[in-house]
Amino acid sequence: MFVMQDEGPTTGFCRDCFSPVTGDERRCRGCGSPRLLHHPELHQLAIAHIDCDAFYAAVEKRDRPELSDKPVIVGGGTRGVVSTACYIARIHGVKSAMPMFQALKLSPDAVVIPPDMAKYSAAGRLVRELMLEVTPLVEPLSIDEAFLDLSGTARLHGMSPALTLAHLITRIYERVGITASVGLSHNKFLAKLASDLEKPRGFSVLGRSETLSFLATKPVGFIWGVGKAMQEELAKGGITMIAQLQLMEKNELMRRFGSMGARLYHLSRGEDQRIVSTDDHSKSISAETTFNTDVSDCTELERILWPLAEKVSRRAKAEGVAGHTIVLKLKTADFKTRTRNVSLADPTLLANRIYDAALPLLQREATGTAFRLIGIGISGLVEASPEQETVTLDVTSSARAKAELAVDRIRDKFGRTAVGRGISFGSDD
Ligand SMILES: [Mg+2]
Repeated sequence: MFVMQDEGPTTGFCRDCFSPVTGDERRCRGCGSPRLLHHPELHQLAIAHIDCDAFYAAVEKRDRPELSDKPVIVGGGTRGVVSTACYIARIHGVKSAMPMFQALKLSPDAVVIPPDMAKYSAAGRLVRELMLEVTPLVEPLSIDEAFLDLSGTARLHGMSPALTLAHLITRIYERVGITASVGLSHNKFLAKLASDLEKPRGFSVLGRSETLSFLATKPVGFIWGVGKAMQEELAKGGITMIAQLQLMEKNELMRRFGSMGARLYHLSRGEDQRIVSTDDHSKSISAETTFNTDVSDCTELERILWPLAEKVSRRAKAEGVAGHTIVLKLKTADFKTRTRNVSLADPTLLANRIYDAALPLLQREATGTAFRLIGIGISGLVEASPEQETVTLDVTSSARAKAELAVDRIRDKFGRTAVGRGISFGSDD
């Protein structure tokens, strides 16, 4: 059967030499590369998510080329956890947040390198600068990933957003020495899903016409914000696949799952209205965790809160921002969200101050209620360069600031778990 294609003959390009391809060839007629990108909507989509591949490990391999074909794990000591595993180590089964002894059982020849956050921050900043050369609409999610909105840039660059992104990835490789994966779609939710589809060195496109059918085949865990607890909640009602949510009415979902129901309704249909936002003042950095069983004990909640405060602090330091407002989030066993916040005279990016400010808020709420989730964050963000600014910004706690920075340096040198105040681990893909 012959199927007419209504799109033009050059709906794709070679990711290595950028020459146009029609979609019939297996290799590029120009350079012979098999890395061809072809999609009917390729040149109409403009929302991208870029995520560096095994970022910490990739930066280490860049600096030590003799490790290029060896399994490399970035993380802290034999008693610590895996922060990032390179793709060779991942083939052996090593994963982020896995205890190091377990990782080394799976990959005994792996080279373990303690994290060097200063080096990763520098590489991350360079990637960010290159992104900003193609569009001012860059919304960083972490040190090595960001959303980009390339709408309206075709005239400026003389090429479609897709092609601009392919050039950008090449430039990141040439200038920073690491690889990254791209997800290109029509909104943030789908772009982020897409970037994860064919890592490393991926470039995945999700067009409007395939949105519903693509999502239908995926488990509900693919939906942004649907963690383990929500998956279990949905499974109780027999819902495991997004296809099932696509058949449900909005009212029904909202009746059963509250405000989360509205999100399930829209995201299961691939609808996401969030814009790529560069407004740091409206932005926040937060970390949260959902419990396997509800927690009501205040001391237990405090213990869980600390590593989250550390995580927020780490991200703030990596992004070079500090927050004026500390936000505590709790979700009760019956899915009611409580958000409490407190504003500080001076913005902070220190885990200690973030934690200490949230503590009284927590103590006021934790009076016997069973909670299923706790989160902490900072908002009202301002710029702060990680080293000296911390001390000047945090005038009220400069001794503490110095202590925390000293701890950071020890961790940079020996790994994140070298100095601990409760459990803490991080991951990076
Ligand atoms: Mg990454």
